[in-house]
Amino acid sequence: MAIPSNSTKTLKLNNGLSIPAVGLGTWQSTDEEAYNAVIAALKAGYRHIDTAYCYGNEEPVGRAIKDSGVPRKDIFITTKLWGTDHTRAEEGLDKSLKLLGLDYVDLFLMHWPVPMNPNGNHDKFPTLPDGKRDILLDWNFVDTYREMQKLVASGKTKAIGVSNFSITNLKKLLADSQITIKPVVNQVETHGYLPQHKLLEYAKENDIVLEAYSPLGSTGAPLLKDELVQELAKKNGISESTLLISWSVWRGIVVLPKSVTPSRIADNLKIIELSDEDGKKLNELASIRGEKRLVSPPWDPIVVFNDED
Ligand code: NDP
Repeated sequence: MAIPSNSTKTLKLNNGLSIPAVGLGTWQSTDEEAYNAVIAALKAGYRHIDTAYCYGNEEPVGRAIKDSGVPRKDIFITTKLWGTDHTRAEEGLDKSLKLLGLDYVDLFLMHWPVPMNPNGNHDKFPTLPDGKRDILLDWNFVDTYREMQKLVASGKTKAIGVSNFSITNLKKLLADSQITIKPVVNQVETHGYLPQHKLLEYAKENDIVLEAYSPLGSTGAPLLKDELVQELAKKNGISESTLLISWSVWRGIVVLPKSVTPSRIADNLKIIELSDEDGKKLNELASIRGEKRLVSPPWDPIVVFNDED
């Protein structure tokens, strides 16, 4: 029997702030979709919205936050620094704040550990003449993070973190003597087919919260069609999406389901307290089906965005 748990469940970050365990994802949402989705989410009880400069929808997201009537201080808002802004992190955050119409965000993430040419042939995806991504080779993600640290004191963000970081890259970052503010989160692709058990263990050991992007398998939510997911959802009397989102929360992960459909947005917040038995079964899903990345490439800065490698 499913026990409805508190949909306003939060996790503690290593800087003392709390983060709502479920947040609305906004990637691949048009302006109109993003606006309506954020309004629907805040009405349904969400208090956590995940956006990014790269998604191109910070303006409607910010407008919806204002129009919702929910006090700003009650909403946890995350945005992300794009690769072409790695050498100018403060300008990157200023651009996002302006688009969002906000004075501060709660969390500012380095979107990828890959600095790209700020003066290249494209604002977001610059390429070299041979078609490969125009990656900066004389700047690295530790340099970027050092710049991001200054933004906490400026008050423009309450916390900083990373995204798409492997254990190797987290180790590199944490080993740097000038890193004085630990990332509060690492936002990564993780779902039933890519459980990231080792990365989760490392994050927990280092007091970094893992955030799950693409928790339903991204576009078209393919995980909802998995037989084991369907069987466990039926057993618990809940939808497949509720099961998967509840599993992430059971693992101690922040989870960011995206939907532009109001009924799904509301459903995705109705998490339950999953039993250890069912949680452990879902932990094994990838070993039964085979591990699959559905969205992102592996996170080595040299190979990411360098399409041919
Ligand atoms: P999700 O795993 O959240 O899946 C989104 C898809 O699932 C959409 O097609 C949506 O359809 C569908 N869906 C959502 N809820 C339901 C439901 N209850 N029943 C049936 N279908 C459903 O994918 P995302 O890749 O969008 O990941 C979530 C968020 O994570 C992103 O939006 C973004 O905020 C973040 N992210 C971060 C990345 C990073 O590099 N840091 C990379 C990728 C994502 P519909 O919308 O039509 O309802």
